[in-house]
Amino acid sequence: MLLETRDLTVTIGGKTILKDLSIRFAEGKRTAIIGPNGAGKSTLLRALAALNPHYQGEILLDGEDIRKMGRKKLSQRLAILPQSVQAPPDTTVERLVDYGRFPYRSWFRGSNAREDREAVEWALSVTHLEDFRHRQVVSLSGGERQRAWIAMALAQQPEVLLLDEPTTYLDIAHQLEVMQIVRQLYEKYGMTVIMVLHDINHALQYADEIAIVKDHGIFSQGSPKEIITVDTLAKVFGVKADIFINSEGAAILSPISIVQKG
Ligand code: ADP
Ligand code: MG
Repeated sequence: MLLETRDLTVTIGGKTILKDLSIRFAEGKRTAIIGPNGAGKSTLLRALAALNPHYQGEILLDGEDIRKMGRKKLSQRLAILPQSVQAPPDTTVERLVDYGRFPYRSWFRGSNAREDREAVEWALSVTHLEDFRHRQVVSLSGGERQRAWIAMALAQQPEVLLLDEPTTYLDIAHQLEVMQIVRQLYEKYGMTVIMVLHDINHALQYADEIAIVKDHGIFSQGSPKEIITVDTLAKVFGVKADIFINSEGAAILSPISIVQKG
C-alpha cells in the first residue's frame, strides 16, 4: 500500500470527527472519497497530508510514519490542493506554480534551477497554462485559477496527489477539463490520485475505487460498480436514484427524490 491510515481518530474542539478510521490507497490508482456534507472527508484528506498533527492512530506513506517525515520530504512525495484555497495571491501564474518547488529548496543547498524550470514547465503544460504564465492569478477565470492551483501542486512532482472537491463552482466544461487532467496524470504519469468529489457521477466516471465516509469512518470502499448502488444511495445520502449506463458504458446516476436514510 502506498498510503494508509490505521485507526485514525481526529477530535476537534472535543468533537469526534473521525474515529478509528482505517483506509488503504494502492499505488497508481484513483480513489474518490464521497460522503454527506460534514462527514469528515476534508478532515481525512488534511490528515493524510499532515496538515493536522493532532490525531491518534497512524498514517503511513510507503510504510513510513508521516509524523516522522520532515515537511519537505513529505511534500516531495505528496501534494494537496485543499478545498478552499486562500484568495489568489498578487502574483503571476508562473510564480505561483514555482512556489510548488519549495520542498526542493533550502537555504544551505540553494536549488537546482534546471530541475525547477523543468518541473514548472511540465506542470504548466499538463494543466494547459503555458499561454497564461505571465497573467496575474487574480485575473484568471474560475477554471483557469483552479488549474493554476493544480499546477502548483504538480510542480512538487508528487507520487500522490490529494484534491479536495477540485470541480466545485466550475461549469460543466471546466469540470470536465479538470477531470481529464486528473485522468492524464493517472494514465500517462502513473500518479496516485485521492480526490474528494461532491459529484458522484464524476466518481463513477473517473475513479478506480470509491470510498464512502460516513459516521466518522469508512462506510464502504471498492470498485465504483460495487459501491454505488441504489441501496447505498438511499442509506448514505437519503436519496432515491436511478442508475443508467451512458454511451461510454459508464454508470450514471440520476437522483429522483429524498427518502428516509438508513
Ligand atoms: P466534509 O469535508 O466531509 O464536508 P469536514 O471534514 O470539513 O467535512 O468536517 C467534518 C466535521 O468537522 C464538520 O462537522 C465540521 O464542522 C467539523 N470541523 C472540521 N474542521 C473543524 C475545525 N477546524 N474546527 C471545528 N470543527 C471542525
Ligand atoms: Mg469538505
